[in-house]
Amino acid sequence: MTIERAYMDHNATAPVRPEAVEAVARVLALTGNPSSVHAEGRAAHKIVEDARVAVAALVKAKPAEITFTSGGTEAANLALHAARNALGIRRIVLSSVEHDAVRVAAAHSGLEVEVLPVNENGIADLAALAGLLDAPGKGRTLVALMLANNETGVIQPVAEAAAMARAAGAFMLTDAVQAVGRMPVDFVALGADMMLLSGHKLGSPQGIGALVWRDELAFEPLIRGGGQELRRRSGTENVPGIAGFGAAARAAARDADAYTRIAELRDALEAALKAAVPDVRIFGENAPRLANTSLFSSAGLNAETLLMILDLDGFAVSAGSACSSGKVARSHVLEAMGVPPELAKGAIRVSLGLANTRAEIERFVQSWARAAVKARAHESDVKTGAPESASVRAAASSAVPA
Ligand code: PLP
Repeated sequence: MTIERAYMDHNATAPVRPEAVEAVARVLALTGNPSSVHAEGRAAHKIVEDARVAVAALVKAKPAEITFTSGGTEAANLALHAARNALGIRRIVLSSVEHDAVRVAAAHSGLEVEVLPVNENGIADLAALAGLLDAPGKGRTLVALMLANNETGVIQPVAEAAAMARAAGAFMLTDAVQAVGRMPVDFVALGADMMLLSGHKLGSPQGIGALVWRDELAFEPLIRGGGQELRRRSGTENVPGIAGFGAAARAAARDADAYTRIAELRDALEAALKAAVPDVRIFGENAPRLANTSLFSSAGLNAETLLMILDLDGFAVSAGSACSSGKVARSHVLEAMGVPPELAKGAIRVSLGLANTRAEIERFVQSWARAAVKARAHESDVKTGAPESASVRAAASSAVPA
């Protein structure tokens, strides 16, 4: 019997949109280096510039403020490098829930790093930010606050933080990788100086992203060479990836309304989880969140075991924290929100997309609730060294009707 698959891991990567597939295929059939002056080169150049216009429009930035990179991680590294070397930044204040792309780049940036705490809902503490900004003698500061968190979906008060940063003479970086295409993003209204984007979360191929850099600000490249991308990032452009990113950006702008339906699906998922397992805890539930994301757990679960069971049942979801090399690492996001390790360890993230259906949600909840019973039994057996008891096996098979 073949198991029907349901992909619910869009915050890890989203399916490539048909428009992006078509744009990539069209470019692959062409030849031309965007730096060449002949007709083929000029055609490739036009593809890149059209995509720049589309990506800029999606985030309400100017096309000249967009530098294409290999993704969000490179954009983060480039931003910190340029901030330090072109803007004279000496210190970075970053929220405790930033993605590793920013956290680890900051740790290796040569900047002094200070951490901005979040509350139990995962929202940055702006009173603490005021204190951190009022720091005479610390040198120029960059505040890094992501727009939406990849694990919880919690949306941060970036505009407020940016206004505070500006008033204190500091700069503002926002990681909008998860937000773009899933909520309206306006670079100017946010008041940020720099913003990170990644194509593959909104339906482009992987390996393409962008740094948005406010056009009045000085810049310094990280990758030097032939001076492509307005001298901000050398190397022959990834023309197929850029074309795919542009097409995905246009499609995302067109499909923005779909997120109302996705929010209804997410709410249905959470209501069903609560009905099936009353002690389920949904992280960031009381904060504004992305419409597509739900991170939840219940006592005594182990996400690694759950993921395997859910995968066998046909569901592609994630553990609360990113898995690297197939291992589930402890979530610094849940730790920062004060979630006890015992509960954090069982956290599962569902991140929905355009193709998910109510029937998939219903099947998922049944599968998760059954898996939770099995995983709890496995955990208690591991603790006591006892073999799985017959009564637990019976509970696992009868907990929720399949
Ligand atoms: N920032 C956030 C919030 C992310 O979720 C990710 C990817 O998971 C990144 C940055 C890194 O983006 P990329 O995969 O394009 O390097």
